[in-house]
Amino acid sequence: MTHALEIIKQSEIEIEPLVKQNKQIAYDNFKKVMQSFNDHSVMESDFTGTTGYGYDDTGRDKLEDIYRDIFKAEDALVRAQIISGTHAISLSLLSLLERGDELLYITGWPYDTLEKVIGDSEEDVGSMKALGIDFNYVDLIDDKAFDIDAILNNIKDNTKVIGIQRSRGYSTRKSLTIEQIEAVIKTIKERHPNIIVFVDNCYGEFVERREPIEVGADIAAGSLIKNPGGGLAKMGGYVVGRKDLIERVSYRLTVPGIGKEMGASLEVLLDMYQGLFMAPHAVIESLNGALLTSHVLTKLGYRTDPLFDETRTDLIQSIQFNTEEEMISFIQMVQSASPVNSKFLPIPDLIPGYQHPVIMAAGTFIQGASLELSADGPVREPYIAFMQGGLVYEHVKYALEKVLTHWSEKGII
Ligand SMILES: *Cc1c(COP(=O)(O)O)cnc(C)c1O
Repeated sequence: MTHALEIIKQSEIEIEPLVKQNKQIAYDNFKKVMQSFNDHSVMESDFTGTTGYGYDDTGRDKLEDIYRDIFKAEDALVRAQIISGTHAISLSLLSLLERGDELLYITGWPYDTLEKVIGDSEEDVGSMKALGIDFNYVDLIDDKAFDIDAILNNIKDNTKVIGIQRSRGYSTRKSLTIEQIEAVIKTIKERHPNIIVFVDNCYGEFVERREPIEVGADIAAGSLIKNPGGGLAKMGGYVVGRKDLIERVSYRLTVPGIGKEMGASLEVLLDMYQGLFMAPHAVIESLNGALLTSHVLTKLGYRTDPLFDETRTDLIQSIQFNTEEEMISFIQMVQSASPVNSKFLPIPDLIPGYQHPVIMAAGTFIQGASLELSADGPVREPYIAFMQGGLVYEHVKYALEKVLTHWSEKGII
């Protein structure tokens, strides 16, 4: 056996106890999903879908009831017409906030794609700024803990919504566990019971046993081409939470007075149902792939975050390389190990919104689907790449084998 394969084999032995624990999480979450399928008596006819206005779409309505139950919410909106995670988030925020209100993010500056939603100036058409909605944020302490004092000090009379981003996204801070989120919500609500707590749940679903609503959040949102779509949903997003809030969100997505009543589902329901069925398993496959990645690369002397044995609440694994060449070759090998477009060679390039060239590996079946294995990062010091996804653990292992084999041929390891 080559050196590369030997390293991976040894790591697999060492992560075995954690993989076992994760399988128990997968089972507990699978059970939650299955029980809801059974309670709602999912039938073949639920997958038929509707056209046109989408009245009486019983399959769509039932899927929303299932999401509602799984996320322990009062109501849910699960729609193909929600085009992405960013859309689910901005839809939620813009339906809750009105002129004069403030949105306070308590996990630092939000995910990059929300920059335009917040807006710089009143000229940014449709942005919160242009709509007269204030925005403020509080950083985490040491990139890992809620700054309770600063949060309480920054809550003003017009602070209507508090925003929490569970996953680190593409930043170097820690992701926030459900336990941390529970504690901060409790403290905030003790003093400000009427504040609405919103959670950006992207990348978090089914990584832990509990979800944001059951620890006190009022509303949470995410993308179906990430965790809850299980790799099968081809589009869509969801919002879950308090009934009155979901109504507001539905009125903004469609039409005041119509809300959830309309919206044709065409042929998307089968994928959404089957994807949800697969999701607890696929999420843990991906998580176990991240454990392996972290363990192997740590062994080779790289800094990884989280470390393989740290508590996880999302799917993102970051890896810090020593040189630009190492980072680029890692991403290129991940691309070459993709089921789709494996012959494409990713190169660093400037993309709007980033100051440094970015390199991305994304040979996914579904465009941009990041529950499928992908890796990317801005090519600048300290050369950190973010790797996420892997519908099956074998795919992550296969990609690592390719990286390590290539590196040992080139004398990097
Ligand atoms: C992916 C992600 C988003 C945005 O989702 P898109 O579907 O890419 O628009 C928002 N927040 C976090 C934390 C994410 O990981």
